[in-house]
Amino acid sequence: MTQIDAARSGIITPEMEQVAKDEFRDPEFIRAGVAAGRIAIPANKLHKGIRAVGVGEGLRTKVNVNLGISGDKADAAEEWKKVKIAEDFGADAIMDLSNSGKTREFRRQLVEETPLMVGTVPMYDAIGYMEKPLVKLTKDDLLETIRAHAEDGVDFMTIHAGINRSVVKTFKETGRLMNIVSRGGSLLFGWMEVTGNENPFYEYYDEVLEICHEYDVTISLGDSCRPGCLYDSNDATETAEMIELGKLTKRAWDAGVQVMVEGPGHMALDEVAANMKLQKRLCHNAPFYVLGPLVTDIGVGYDHITAAIGGAVAASSGANFLCYVTPAEHLCLPDAKDVLDGLMATKIAAHAADIANKLPHALDEDNRMGEARRKLDWEEMWKHALDPVTGRERYESSPAATEGTCTMCGKMCAVRTVNKVFEGTTIDLGMDD
Ligand code: SF4
Repeated sequence: MTQIDAARSGIITPEMEQVAKDEFRDPEFIRAGVAAGRIAIPANKLHKGIRAVGVGEGLRTKVNVNLGISGDKADAAEEWKKVKIAEDFGADAIMDLSNSGKTREFRRQLVEETPLMVGTVPMYDAIGYMEKPLVKLTKDDLLETIRAHAEDGVDFMTIHAGINRSVVKTFKETGRLMNIVSRGGSLLFGWMEVTGNENPFYEYYDEVLEICHEYDVTISLGDSCRPGCLYDSNDATETAEMIELGKLTKRAWDAGVQVMVEGPGHMALDEVAANMKLQKRLCHNAPFYVLGPLVTDIGVGYDHITAAIGGAVAASSGANFLCYVTPAEHLCLPDAKDVLDGLMATKIAAHAADIANKLPHALDEDNRMGEARRKLDWEEMWKHALDPVTGRERYESSPAATEGTCTMCGKMCAVRTVNKVFEGTTIDLGMDD
């Protein structure tokens, strides 16, 4: 029985209990959300050490970190450093995008060791796993790769089933500035063009669903046609695929499989909210998982910021899960520092949206921080900071001459001045007080 099967049977699973506790919600709220598909709890039956997390309506916005061994920069030790950062700095999920070398070994170890949700994109791995060139891959090869990932305990998988021949026709007829920028989508487009066949994930979707149901793998429906630049956002191709994703969402639910739907991409700030609402409408309120959206195309080197701006608007307008973007986006494989910067920018966006969405207790830590700042209690401040390590390092690297203050204003510290007034202490700035 999957989480959605259980929820529809009126059963509150231990995972639903855990999510309810973490989200300050009643367990029945979670069960009803899972039963309706508005909430997904990606938790493969074989991922024994997972701490269950809910993604969806009325829950805290979740954040994903991408990592994995790349063919051009295969350094497993560096990827493990990124895993540690994801765990230590509050990511909710790790997507292992490994596409070179011993991917299975890395994936199995990751599932064994991390309590975070683990996601993968089997299409990336299929070429290496089956040791075949792209165009020689058969539908059985792809299904075998999906089964291998499910057996390894992966909690959610991006399946690019939406880019079928009808969507490709729309793409070719209407054209785009950046064509297809999704890695999985481009591989499938190439495969379909060379073989002349229908997208195997679409054509054999029922078989994909059978595997996912067996292990309770949540399908994350990939947006192969997500806009790769502002010019392409909300165009016919993106919308045509979104309509297909809505149909595939219903089919998955009918098969007892949990679903998330992936979204943009690059998008002008004023279009983001409407896109979130349209996606939710067309995909029947399934949890929405977005990359960015990046609100300008020219923030090269700072795309963790362009994505965080779009992410905050997206998550306050319906998106439930933000995939992080690092400063290395569009440039190179991120290093460990990029991973931290990307994760923190995305966590800030997610938290800002949770406050705007008025989620239970969303403001608690902010209020505690305000209190600590008023008291100039620096140790207490680190306890409530999203990244206490960087905060402390910066503070201690520039010691203040006046106790309790920082070098920004020193003796003219506004907080200290007002505290002294309320304490009844005379303030004589510029002189000893
Ligand atoms: S010195 Fe200025 S910046 Fe630093 S804590 Fe006081 S008011 Fe804030």
